[in-house]
Amino acid sequence: MIKKRYLAILLIILIVAVYGFVTINQSAHEPQTTVNETQTTTHEFLGNDSTGSVEVIRNVGNPNGERVAYVVGVHPLENDTHKTLLNLLQQQANLNCCYDIYIINVDLDFSQYGQLYPDDEPGRAEGQDLAYKYVYPAIVNGSYKFAVDVHAHGGAYPYDTFVFCPVDGGTGESYGRNVSESTQNVSYYNPYQTTSGPYLTIPLNENGIPAIYFEENSFYSQDIKDSHMMELIRGVDNLKL
Ligand SMILES: [Zn+2]
Repeated sequence: MIKKRYLAILLIILIVAVYGFVTINQSAHEPQTTVNETQTTTHEFLGNDSTGSVEVIRNVGNPNGERVAYVVGVHPLENDTHKTLLNLLQQQANLNCCYDIYIINVDLDFSQYGQLYPDDEPGRAEGQDLAYKYVYPAIVNGSYKFAVDVHAHGGAYPYDTFVFCPVDGGTGESYGRNVSESTQNVSYYNPYQTTSGPYLTIPLNENGIPAIYFEENSFYSQDIKDSHMMELIRGVDNLKL
């Protein structure tokens, strides 16, 4: 009787051992997932205060490429272009550069405002303050070659889709002009008045990081916004940094 019980236990151990061996062996022979660029992408929380939070998606594109920062959310109401960049940049294969996307989330509810009008103000001051507090130090102390701050407008400018560097005469301006020249629909136009410049792009340019604005007309259809954003993405990615 005891012998039979031992035999039964032995048999169970044997079955478990064989099953385990087969399972380990199988997983060892499963095709390895190819190492692609997206596997290096990380999503990090940078900080928050009573007005909102800031996060960053790192290493989008070529992890060995020159580092470029995109910023979205400085003016939260302009979120149509922010979503467009977030969506399209992360879908691209074979990018030359390595991108970090800084995302500013203002807690204020601005969703009810719909499309943008020039006098829509909610969240602007909060987004700018969050940019200066969290995004500016992260970019100026990072090893970035270039930064792009993504905005939208309600049609108050003589150009609908444009880039510009708020500081004339430096590398930022020449990168901005190069991006514009390499695209069909992205003009170079400096309006010489920005509310957010002092919170991000101006101090970046003054402290060694060339930085430009991208502005898009919020009233364009999503298709046009997508195609303009692709022009920006390619124009930036093909810069000689
Ligand atoms: Zn703006």
